[in-house]
Amino acid sequence: MQYAKYGKDGPEVSRLGFGAMRLPLRKENNISKVNFTRTVAIMHQAMQAGLNFIDTAHTYHDGVSEAAIGRALKSWKGHRIYTQTKSPWFHDEPTDYFKKLLVRAVENLGVDAIDYLLCHAVTMDVFKDRGRRFLKLTDWAMNRGLIRNRGFSSHDTPENVKKLIDTGEFSVMLLSYNWYKPEMTDTITYGASKGMGVAIMNPVGGGLLSPTTPEILHLLRGSKSGPETALRYVLATPGVTLALSGMNTAEQVEENTRVAGRKTPMTAKQRRTMVQRLQKIKKRTKNQCTGCGYCTPCPNGVDIPRNFLLLEQAKLFGLIDHAKAKFAKLRQAKNGDKSALACVECGECLPKCPNNVPIIEQLQETAELLAE
Ligand code: SF4
Ligand code: SF4
Repeated sequence: MQYAKYGKDGPEVSRLGFGAMRLPLRKENNISKVNFTRTVAIMHQAMQAGLNFIDTAHTYHDGVSEAAIGRALKSWKGHRIYTQTKSPWFHDEPTDYFKKLLVRAVENLGVDAIDYLLCHAVTMDVFKDRGRRFLKLTDWAMNRGLIRNRGFSSHDTPENVKKLIDTGEFSVMLLSYNWYKPEMTDTITYGASKGMGVAIMNPVGGGLLSPTTPEILHLLRGSKSGPETALRYVLATPGVTLALSGMNTAEQVEENTRVAGRKTPMTAKQRRTMVQRLQKIKKRTKNQCTGCGYCTPCPNGVDIPRNFLLLEQAKLFGLIDHAKAKFAKLRQAKNGDKSALACVECGECLPKCPNNVPIIEQLQETAELLAE
């Protein structure tokens, strides 16, 4: 495992962090619940491989993610693990609401103090409206020893993220970035030049970039898989401290820790070649969906990110048969049709998308391409 400093005064963290947004599940009375046993086993496997950083949020699995991490930390006897969680300031609530969530997070994680508290999915507009209250809350929490540092996560534009950096109030940031969506490249370098630690979410595009196809293997000579290509691209980006990955299987942990163990994720020449090849592929697609899921739930049951994933797999990688088969499964889902065909064009999802994806048009395109 390789390590890097998380911000100019920060600790050395592993270049692979554990993203705890989607943990392994189990069924109880037909209800999906976080599988604590499986979660602890996977996290310990990653920690044994040298991982020392876990990222979560108060809202992930309705707070259960923090509790599951707490379970893993409690039974871990090895090196120090750094924790990062996020406060949901996209809700306009009184400060006491956030204080309670924070105190509960400290209890659930079972730590003396949370290493990094981020303002979750903040935009410049939200920061202007109530960012000062977040700063006050974090000052209060630091004085009480509940947190050690503050930062932000954001899906705002690169320009607005630069403005957030320029406030000088944050020591770290978490951004969505991958080879398919490289718009944040300059912003990442800019943040790092200001001494900020930079963590990356969605390095594999929410699964979009995980297929191991000839097209993807062609992007980076020597890479053995889609996830390897994606992780190496992110880790080779100047300014990136670490990439977060939501790992659910032992194989994923093995592969990702192997990749994060490379001293040089990619040479300058490999990167130039990859960028040139990408420019050719990008001409074939317009979709900017990161699979974040903020547009869900759809009142008519459409699984929007899943449909877009299939659209991209078909268009970008030529996996038409695979995408059609998966689309048919979405149509026959147990709880009703989740495919693009179930969209009634109500528009409810549109303002929720941080990337301004033209959801309705793209769902129409998905149905035209994939419905038999
Ligand atoms: S526009 Fe379509 S996908 Fe979006 S919320 Fe309405 S029915 Fe669902
Ligand atoms: S359409 Fe937008 S909100 Fe929905 S998953 Fe994609 S990026 Fe996220």
